[in-house]
Amino acid sequence: MVADPVATLHRIFGFPAFRGVQEDVVTRVLAGQRTLAVMPTGAGKSLCYQLPSAMLEGTCVVVSPLIALMHDQLRAATAVGLRAATLTSVDENRAETRGRFLDGELDLLYIAPERASTADFRDLLERGRIALFAIDEAHCVSEWGHDFRPDYRLLRPLLDAFPQVPRLALTATADDHTRRDVLEQLGIPEEGMIVAGFDRPNIRYAIQPRDQTARQIADLIARTPGPGIVYVPSRAGTEKMAETLGRSTGRPVRAYHAGLDASVRARNQRDFVASEDMVICATVAFGMGIDKPDVRFVAHAGLPKSIEAYYQETGRAGRDGDPAVAHLFWGADDFARARQRIGEVEPARQPGERQRLTALAALVETAGCRRRVLLRHFGEDPPETCGNCDNCLNPPAAIDATQVARKYLSAVFRTGQMFGAGYIEQVLTGQSTERSLMNGHEQLTVWNIVEGEELRLLKPVGRALLLKDALRTNPHGGLEFGPAARALLKGEATLPLIEPPARERRRKGAGAQTANPVDDPLFEALRACRRDLAKEAGVPPYVIFHDSALREMAALRPASASALGRISGIGQRKLDAYGAAFLKVIADHSS
Ligand code: ADP
Ligand code: ZN
Repeated sequence: MVADPVATLHRIFGFPAFRGVQEDVVTRVLAGQRTLAVMPTGAGKSLCYQLPSAMLEGTCVVVSPLIALMHDQLRAATAVGLRAATLTSVDENRAETRGRFLDGELDLLYIAPERASTADFRDLLERGRIALFAIDEAHCVSEWGHDFRPDYRLLRPLLDAFPQVPRLALTATADDHTRRDVLEQLGIPEEGMIVAGFDRPNIRYAIQPRDQTARQIADLIARTPGPGIVYVPSRAGTEKMAETLGRSTGRPVRAYHAGLDASVRARNQRDFVASEDMVICATVAFGMGIDKPDVRFVAHAGLPKSIEAYYQETGRAGRDGDPAVAHLFWGADDFARARQRIGEVEPARQPGERQRLTALAALVETAGCRRRVLLRHFGEDPPETCGNCDNCLNPPAAIDATQVARKYLSAVFRTGQMFGAGYIEQVLTGQSTERSLMNGHEQLTVWNIVEGEELRLLKPVGRALLLKDALRTNPHGGLEFGPAARALLKGEATLPLIEPPARERRRKGAGAQTANPVDDPLFEALRACRRDLAKEAGVPPYVIFHDSALREMAALRPASASALGRISGIGQRKLDAYGAAFLKVIADHSS
């Protein structure tokens, strides 16, 4: 190997240095060793094979599960000057691509697993020169993974037909079981596994109960410029949320779910990817194939399925490394519904599902650092505080709500474990209604026993009891005892409650934190220039340059191509293609 990886990193990608484990991975790949890279979203997995593809003789064959993902990658690779092509059913230039491969004119060839495993493709590979097999989203090979794809199982024979070609599997999947399975399925030795830390320090986590979801999310949007994703649990919910937010925020807002017409879906996704300020209200179906680096916030309007799902969904924010927000709005009914669903799955799966939910509850109810709970879940040992989550920024006060909790439970019990939270609150605060009179509940000892200071704890206590499984909801919405009720009533357990900080403080804490300058005319002019170039090239703006590159331009005001080329993210190819246009904008603003 004559070329130097760092020199290639500068020249092609314009990055000053490797990030995290990239260097270890690239070193192994260049040495021809089989490797599994486990790196979180945004850690820069693609560079781990793109860089070697530019240095090694022959073509790097990249197996990728989604056509949209492949085309994204193709755009980005081409923009830095790599010779890349995709071989998919929608590409009409397949014959040309085969020719380029055979002539040794491709650095990267992207292909889907089902095509990769055909005899036809193996034939093609045998007639050309392969530098490396890169298997993206490698967890798809494992039945343990959350996204098993049988086609991935067919890759092994292909890989084994070229035993001398190094293989690099890549995944963001944290779970140990899946990783081991991937090693085995793809024939990678254990010492070939390189695991990056899972922290995403630029993401600010915040978790808060819902009261008026649409208004809470509109507030978040108002203080968070840039593109964002709002995950809504139901299809109908996404459309309703999009409509409400569109009216209340003045931002472009679209809906996305699997029930929409395919052309509408494709258009909304395309527009979102190209946009610098769009909000998309989506079910979790949205995001898998999307590689948009400048998503500034991810909001959850309901509880995610698991901590893994939460991590993955929030991980779509801030891939470019700039500050981003992940804000979860939860309701007690989310937990109640989740428990109900668990009761409906086959008995063998129930303990696992219950564990998943308990882990989520721990994340939601902690008064400590959210990041710590997350990372510990993934087996890391992070510091006590991170300084970039809601609880670290505004430490909540813990108060003892055991008394109110016992009153609450007593009221549920005395009224026969059949009424909903609203009615229980009426009984406890002594609000006469026709119903309470008819039921004779005004005679109960629990009638009107919550007053004064305790009043404001009623709703949070109701939520906490549901979350802790001291209360459950029956199919008609009535509350009944769960397994954790007894200990509380008998005085064997307490109910510490986390008191949310005052709203003003919360606003400040979870507030806007964009790294981009506000009202800087040069920065805005650079953005406009990027928009024009993107339109001309038919690519999203971030493919031209990331915001961080524009910010550096605005701050440093480089006057020459060589000065411009020293900015992170500006390699030779982009300097040649776009340098002059941006230098002109800077010069115009400096005179
Ligand atoms: P992943 O596939 O792991 O989610 P990507 O490959 O999309 O991550 O990379 C995430 C972002 O990080 C990209 O925008 C990429 O340009 C940037 N990036 C990758 N490596 C580096 C590096 N060494 N220095 C600076 N930025 C990098
Ligand atoms: Zn924290």
